[in-house]
Amino acid sequence: MTLAIFGGKPVRDTYLSYGQQWIDEDDINAIVNTLQSPFITQGPKIVEFEQSIADYVGAKYAVAFANGTAALHGACFAAGIGSGDEVITTPITFAASSNCVLYCGGKPVFADIDEQTYNIDPDKIRCVITSKTRAIIPVDFTGQPVDLDKIMKIAQEHNLVVIEDSAHSLGATYMGRKVGTLAHMTMFSFHPVKHITTGEGGIITTNSKEYYEKLRLFRSHGIRSDILYRDEGPWYYEMVELGYNYRITDLQASLGLSQMQKLNKFVTKRREIANIYNQEFSKLNGVKIPYQINNTNSSWHLYILSLELEKFHVGRKEIFEALRAENIGVHVHYIPVYLHPYYQRLGYKKGLCPIAEQWYETVLTIPLFPKMTKLDIESVIKGVKKVAEYYLK
Ligand SMILES: *Cc1c(COP(=O)(O)O)cnc(C)c1O
Repeated sequence: MTLAIFGGKPVRDTYLSYGQQWIDEDDINAIVNTLQSPFITQGPKIVEFEQSIADYVGAKYAVAFANGTAALHGACFAAGIGSGDEVITTPITFAASSNCVLYCGGKPVFADIDEQTYNIDPDKIRCVITSKTRAIIPVDFTGQPVDLDKIMKIAQEHNLVVIEDSAHSLGATYMGRKVGTLAHMTMFSFHPVKHITTGEGGIITTNSKEYYEKLRLFRSHGIRSDILYRDEGPWYYEMVELGYNYRITDLQASLGLSQMQKLNKFVTKRREIANIYNQEFSKLNGVKIPYQINNTNSSWHLYILSLELEKFHVGRKEIFEALRAENIGVHVHYIPVYLHPYYQRLGYKKGLCPIAEQWYETVLTIPLFPKMTKLDIESVIKGVKKVAEYYLK
């Protein structure tokens, strides 16, 4: 079969993106009902949504934010990150995981990844700890939880705060425990490609009352809403910290609540598709399927194939372009964060995390989202096989 990039017929007629939301009639009704209620922001739906996430992960507290990035910023504030403080994170993530440290005047420090799981390597974390280290932001990359027992042990030894970036792992488990209470604070994102969506949105879950209160302050201008003494007059409130307006709206929270009804179904479907891919691609020469540790159960935000490039006539770029021509919306997650021009200007050098850099050259994300049909899944498998087999030596 001629590849579509050379004028052949693509394996599918329409473009299939790598991720996409699933919105039903009940989601639409939920938003419309809120629109017709007295509150479209700062009303009861936000509290209900926070409670539903807290209950789902088993956390005492949850504070919703305008987006996941704002939530990470809030978590860094609550952890007390400030000028000169170092925070360790992974280079294989979305830039928000380390940008939040910069927002607070801190310095992101990158520790290399584990070759098998692609998650931050706890032993590499140990290597970069200094007297200035204050926190660790591990990322549950693709939905597979990081090695939290090891990371929490390191944190305890060095008195560090752990903020787990779980933007990829809502619904995942680590040693049978749901992600969301294993670190000091855990962040989830509700961007449309993530497990559930609120359009834009994010949340921090925690068991700490102190963090909970700081997060709430930070989300709303640093203004205390619980002032008991009102000597000044009945209008009185106090701004006690430099916070932001990082609030989510009731419209979004009502969408989040109706999406939560479907979270288990969404996660199950993601796992089913990943299983089909694993079966198909474990037999395909030239690609490596994602390795899964026994004691974790991923919620599969992303499905990543690693190409054994020495087996192909061409590089990753040609394979990527050929798949796009077949209408398969492949992607690359992620360019190592410190290679971005902004980070280069801050002085981070190529070669900092050699495993991550080498791995980045080989990867391809293929479409995975709950709304994919059987035909969508089949077209992805067909497309990958068609292109890989064509270019194999
Ligand atoms: C999506 C994502 C974020 C940020 O979430 P937004 O809601 O888009 O701000 C942070 N970290 C990772 C790893 C993500 O994938």
